[in-house]
Amino acid sequence: MGQGHLDQRCVTAHIILLGAPGSGKGTLAIYLKEYWGLQHISTGDMLRSEVQEATALGLEAQAYMERGELVPDSLIIQMMEGRLKALQGGYILDGFPRTVAQAEALGQVLQRIEHHLDAVVNLAVEETELLRRLTGRRICPACNAVFHVDTMAPKVEGICDLCGTPLMQRKDDTRDAITHRLEVYTAQTQPLIEYYAQRDTLVEIDGKLDPDLIAPILYDELCGGQ
Ligand code: AMP
Repeated sequence: MGQGHLDQRCVTAHIILLGAPGSGKGTLAIYLKEYWGLQHISTGDMLRSEVQEATALGLEAQAYMERGELVPDSLIIQMMEGRLKALQGGYILDGFPRTVAQAEALGQVLQRIEHHLDAVVNLAVEETELLRRLTGRRICPACNAVFHVDTMAPKVEGICDLCGTPLMQRKDDTRDAITHRLEVYTAQTQPLIEYYAQRDTLVEIDGKLDPDLIAPILYDELCGGQ
């Protein structure tokens, strides 16, 4: 599906991706960035580069992230408010909002900047599959490409196919941190499914499907029925 043949409603869509850690939000967002031209806004990636650059926000966020806890709402909301206001065109929010307080703050910002929310997508994946994906995940610290030791192994072990940088395991992809992140997800983020089901277009999608099967489902939701 080349960008030239896409309906404008997809190219300019404002989409939230919900789902547990490891549900494939990042992978789907990268796919939609490539094929639909949507901007990929990942709070996790933004925070990791703040940590890497040792900014004030990064230093404050680091300990929460390594423990698998959420960074406080006030820091995230402040960071995202500036980012959202600067955005033009279609985008996917990956990893934000993660709490009801963040969802409410997001709603207010979107109203102020007159952005309509086109879809909230929930990627559903069972816990054993989440654990398998997260423990085997390796990321490129330079270009954020994501690999998996079994299912998406790089051509040369431990090296990024795209830019040649040595791959690493995220500090929060250890078994203890993953278990904690899944508990945090259930307690604080899962309630957003119900929150958005009552307010916006919630699209439930089987997160075991590959992005090239998910994209047409989403396309139909956004542009089907004319
Ligand atoms: P992710 O890459 O989306 O899995 O995020 C990695 C970590 O960054 C999370 O475990 C949190 O510590 C932090 N983080 C990312 N997004 C948020 C958010 N919206 N609210 C609070 N913490 C976040």
